[in-house]
Amino acid sequence: MTLTEKDSQYLWHPYTQHKTAQTPIAITKGHGALLWDEKGKEYIDAIASWWVNPFGHSNTFIADAIYKQLTTLEHVLFGGFTHEPAVKVAEKLLEILPDNQQKIFFSDNGSTAVEVAIKVALQYFFNKNEKRTTIIAFENAFHGDTFAAMAASGISFYTQAFQGMFIDVVRIPVPVKGKEEESCTALQNAIAKYNCAGFIFEPLVQGAAGMVMYEPEELAKLIRICRENKVLIIADEVMTGFGKTGRTFAMDYVSENPDMICLSKALTGGTIPMAITTFTQDVFDAFYDDDINKALFHGHTFTANPTGCAAALASMNLLQTEEMQANIRRINASHLEFEEKIKSHAKVITARTLGVIFAVEIRSDSEESYYGTMRNKLYEFFIDKGVILRPVGNIVYVLPPYIITKEQLQYVYTVIEEAIEMV
Ligand SMILES: *Cc1c(COP(=O)(O)O)cnc(C)c1O
Repeated sequence: MTLTEKDSQYLWHPYTQHKTAQTPIAITKGHGALLWDEKGKEYIDAIASWWVNPFGHSNTFIADAIYKQLTTLEHVLFGGFTHEPAVKVAEKLLEILPDNQQKIFFSDNGSTAVEVAIKVALQYFFNKNEKRTTIIAFENAFHGDTFAAMAASGISFYTQAFQGMFIDVVRIPVPVKGKEEESCTALQNAIAKYNCAGFIFEPLVQGAAGMVMYEPEELAKLIRICRENKVLIIADEVMTGFGKTGRTFAMDYVSENPDMICLSKALTGGTIPMAITTFTQDVFDAFYDDDINKALFHGHTFTANPTGCAAALASMNLLQTEEMQANIRRINASHLEFEEKIKSHAKVITARTLGVIFAVEIRSDSEESYYGTMRNKLYEFFIDKGVILRPVGNIVYVLPPYIITKEQLQYVYTVIEEAIEMV
């Protein structure tokens, strides 16, 4: 049996209707921005494998750090024990995070980073004997697939089977151009009507919604409204973190600081699953008490896994190199150039860029759903051309590894132009 035949016998894939889905492509090797399948066909990974891989596949700098840690201390429980890699990750992160962040909590993936933040927001008020149980979130947000994260997410076909089983979430419009007022008003109304504990958002770019972008000043306004009403601010930087927006964190563009930040995806450069939720001293202090019941009773077996920490540390060091920062600037400049070229095309509705993120909305005759026919046609066209891009409905976005070469990136643009002509 081939790999794909065995796969179809044993495996259940994420976000996949196995009855109608095409067989998956078996990838056997990766290097830089490239991947190879079992038949030797080459692909450019233009979405950094779901946004986790900024430094390229099979990166030897991170691999060496992992190997060294694996052969020194691969794992130790984090309940009652600590270790140098965890402390070093904390020191490094606190150096680069918005400066009101003081405490680091480890978990395993983006959803749990969000889950922790939401639980902390709810327990923060419980510990203070204040009844606040509603979470505010944006329409079409994506915060993950565990229960609280899913409740905060607004992409309805992901969550329809579970309606009525969620924590209380009130949804407000994203302050995209033309909706700034509406968003502010909706937030004020939500705060007036419900006992709101926290406001969670993807800062500046809603990833899974199709790279929907909005301005930092508009986010700052919303945060100020929350501040006046003592609603905790949760920045979900799982996608935007570690350079994607052109700055280390999207919140670096925003004049107001959050109370909590969720991190994962690029944290370990796509090597080892790991996530972090960070907090202000004020949030931590609400749990600091002689009463054990006020503690945060949340943890995962692999919390602060030293090997993951070593990978995170190596990744953050790579991000800070002048070479990587220059790569980010180069990709941004070339995205802007492509945006300028493509945006007046008859079949293009809009194009947008922030940092290394580029998105183009293609005109479609019918209402396009998330996994609609145009989407599938585009996806297959890209795969055929050896480029991995996963359109969201009629939106094609590029979020390449920072080390993608100039030629590879130009090829990705060319293929997108051909796709626009084709549909
Ligand atoms: C991907 C993502 C998550 C969920 O992360 P997982 O590791 O897939 O659980 C949460 N929030 C945002 C903004 C994301 O992009």
